[in-house]
Amino acid sequence: MSAFTLPSLRYQLNELEPVIDALTMDKHYNKHHQAYIDNLNKALNDNPNNSSLVNIFKNSSGELDNPAVRNNGGGHYNHELYWDILSPISIVSKTNSTDLLVVQKMISQFESVDSVKLQFETAGLGRFGSGWAWVCVDNTTKDLKICSTPNQDNPLMNLPGIEQGTPIIGIDVWEHAYYLKYQNLRKDYLQAVWSLLDWNRINDRYVAAIK
Ligand code: MN
Repeated sequence: MSAFTLPSLRYQLNELEPVIDALTMDKHYNKHHQAYIDNLNKALNDNPNNSSLVNIFKNSSGELDNPAVRNNGGGHYNHELYWDILSPISIVSKTNSTDLLVVQKMISQFESVDSVKLQFETAGLGRFGSGWAWVCVDNTTKDLKICSTPNQDNPLMNLPGIEQGTPIIGIDVWEHAYYLKYQNLRKDYLQAVWSLLDWNRINDRYVAAIK
């Protein structure tokens, strides 16, 4: 198989300022994410019989039972999603556009996008230690779900204790994502980073997930 590589960003490392500072972005993208990729490639070299990460997360071949694959495969997938759904404040899409199917769904299911935001913050704050907060599409009902996972796990992983779904929003709540600027104030980070969400990308993910 071909090795996983660091995905290019659609913005410069300083373009998420002031919400996410350039130094945090540099360490997070160039060091943390790269390390997950390097360690994932290393782990998979021991077992070349695999295909996409999503197939690995389904665990049909048992590869997810290898902690190095679980932690670094999740680390790579989760960060790629995180970078993809953020955009600079200067070009960020409006959250209140009811032209977007995902916004219509949030309003019909949760009454407002703000209600989703509040429940999302609660999920992110309630995650003890390191992990991720998610908005997912339930694979059966196609309803939205808000949850969190520990470490680098994600809702695609077919493992006990993980709420299943297709993630459309994922925010990193590891301290390395926010500590330089927000220190211990995870809530302030969660509230601020919501303002960077690229609703067109999230809508694309939602539309793909409900098919
Ligand atoms: Mn991270």
